[in-house]
Amino acid sequence: MKRLTMTVAALMAFALPVTAQDAKREIIPVAGDVYLFKNNFHRSLIVVTSEGTVRVDPINADAGVWLNDNLNTITDKPVTHLIYSHSHGDHASGGAAHPDAEVIAHVGAPDEIDGVEPTMRVGDSHTLTVGSKTIELTNLGSGHDANMLAVVVRPENVAFIVDVAAPKRLPYKNFGGANIDDWIGQIAKAQTLDFEIFAPAHGNVGTKADLDDAMTYMQDLKAGVLAGLKSGKSTDDMVSELTQDTTYADWQQFEAWRSLNIQGMAKYLQTSGQVN
Ligand SMILES: [Zn+2]
Repeated sequence: MKRLTMTVAALMAFALPVTAQDAKREIIPVAGDVYLFKNNFHRSLIVVTSEGTVRVDPINADAGVWLNDNLNTITDKPVTHLIYSHSHGDHASGGAAHPDAEVIAHVGAPDEIDGVEPTMRVGDSHTLTVGSKTIELTNLGSGHDANMLAVVVRPENVAFIVDVAAPKRLPYKNFGGANIDDWIGQIAKAQTLDFEIFAPAHGNVGTKADLDDAMTYMQDLKAGVLAGLKSGKSTDDMVSELTQDTTYADWQQFEAWRSLNIQGMAKYLQTSGQVN
């Protein structure tokens, strides 16, 4: 009977929906007046200025409510500027939490993002000044998403780069059908930016050297999979061989996503006609 009770309890624990109370949220200092707001597995960039608070990416509605309630732990200035790094729903939902903010997105972003209409559109590059902070926005071109903006904050020299790369962390699953050569081009574009601290939307804060390592990972992955496919190996062969390569075994999500990275790369190389 006792054993049965425990089993039912365990099943119930798995069946419980994830609620707002379960979300893991905190404001993490990065450098100077720059912070990351962690909401489960996603991060917003927060820049505190004398004129107001700049936020990059709303994530979702509950995250906005929490941030508005907790922003007073670091500043008395509300969110006056909301920048969208790109339009993917897992980063770009819930912007209505900041109804008075200037809403900034790339010219290629949708007319309205989760019901919020951008009030300012930027092109290839744009420099925004808020209080004593300079915020440089640079479009990274197409790849993971075509309306991607990298954000560099000065004087802290922090770059917020979303989804294209993250310090010592594998790219997400199978690249979602993206043009991976364009994606590599986005990393190359980010490498041209002048910054010291790499603040990502997923994973841990790093340095610019971590962006260079992310580029090397992509190039290694592409070269390894392409060589295998050209020598007649199947995707399954590639997966069993390349998961043995432990060069990146200490990176986040290696166990979970290495096989998917290989499969995604193999499919991309085949469908883009690079194998034959
Ligand atoms: Zn994305």
